[in-house]
Amino acid sequence: MQFNLFSKWPIKSSYPFLMAGPCSAESAEQVLSIARELKKKPIHLFRAGVWKPRTRPNSFEGAGEEGLKWIHAAKDETGLPTTVEVASPSHVELALKYGIDVLWIGARTMVSPFTVQSIADALRGVDIPVIVKNPVNPDIDLWIGGIERIYNNGITQLAAIHRGFSTYDKSKYRNKPLWEIPLELKRRFPDLPLLCDPSHIGGNRELLLPLSQKALDLNFDGLMIEVHPSPDEALSDAQQQITSKVFSELLNQLVIRKRNAEDSVAYSSLEELRIIIDKIDEHILETLNERMTYAEKIGVFKKENGIAIFQPERWNDIVTRVKFLATEKNLSEDIVLKIFDYIQKESIRKQSGVMYDSKVKSEK
Ligand code: PEP
Ligand code: MN
Repeated sequence: MQFNLFSKWPIKSSYPFLMAGPCSAESAEQVLSIARELKKKPIHLFRAGVWKPRTRPNSFEGAGEEGLKWIHAAKDETGLPTTVEVASPSHVELALKYGIDVLWIGARTMVSPFTVQSIADALRGVDIPVIVKNPVNPDIDLWIGGIERIYNNGITQLAAIHRGFSTYDKSKYRNKPLWEIPLELKRRFPDLPLLCDPSHIGGNRELLLPLSQKALDLNFDGLMIEVHPSPDEALSDAQQQITSKVFSELLNQLVIRKRNAEDSVAYSSLEELRIIIDKIDEHILETLNERMTYAEKIGVFKKENGIAIFQPERWNDIVTRVKFLATEKNLSEDIVLKIFDYIQKESIRKQSGVMYDSKVKSEK
């Protein structure tokens, strides 16, 4: 696949590529006032949502066609190119009718191949850039599949946006970044422009700067940031939106590295390696947690059968086996034994917890 989203905006000459604007178009005045503000900033695209995919019903679901008229008027006055989210063929038709310059497909839409295909079909023969967000679930193939559906219908001006992933376990992020996924997309499609949406990853203002910096350090091509004239009163995503003044401050604080200079490439490679290391550490801890779950099961068994927690022969067997495995895997025997000494301590601690827990029944 060959992509050239930025044939209209030669990204190399004005890095980073910036998209900004409110989460939602709320009124003609709101759209116009923020577009006037953003006109003074180095942005390439003015964003505003008119169809809002909300998690719960009875929230503000966007101004629809009316909102497109406000965006069109703002473009007329400021000259800023515009982009909206489309989630159906009729959205595509209306966005084109009101002269929207770029379309984006949202994270919730991206989980449905049927919907993405229907949008792709509506785009056949249309010459418009499309930006494809990642699906809410961390599935790189689904993301790539969505990109392919659009591409196969003749849209070559494409880019991807990383907006984080929804996970059941809660974290400080609204949507976990899981940086390894967009980096894998970049590895597979080095020419596909990759942008980051720190607003939806972070879900709050405080995280915007560190997330934006991280994205640039990882050599992302640009950022999409939600900017609103009075963020606290926003009808959607109030906590993550910022004023144009804060947006300027954020841009000023960003360290923009020379992209092709050797040191920036080295830096981003280092960052990528660190992300992989972090991922491996997470796996180690998950595996350790799983091991302790089994230690507890053994603890229950020992309690039920009146067996002592510490069994020296078993521990000797483990030590012999671990020494052998350490040598086989080219690891220092000494260090590995120290690690296992701690693992053994934690295992005994867990089993003791079970042993003295009155809720676990013991041998009569
Ligand atoms: C948005 O950009 O306003 C939006 C709804 O984003 P996402 O699809 O990433 O949730
Ligand atoms: Mn939003």
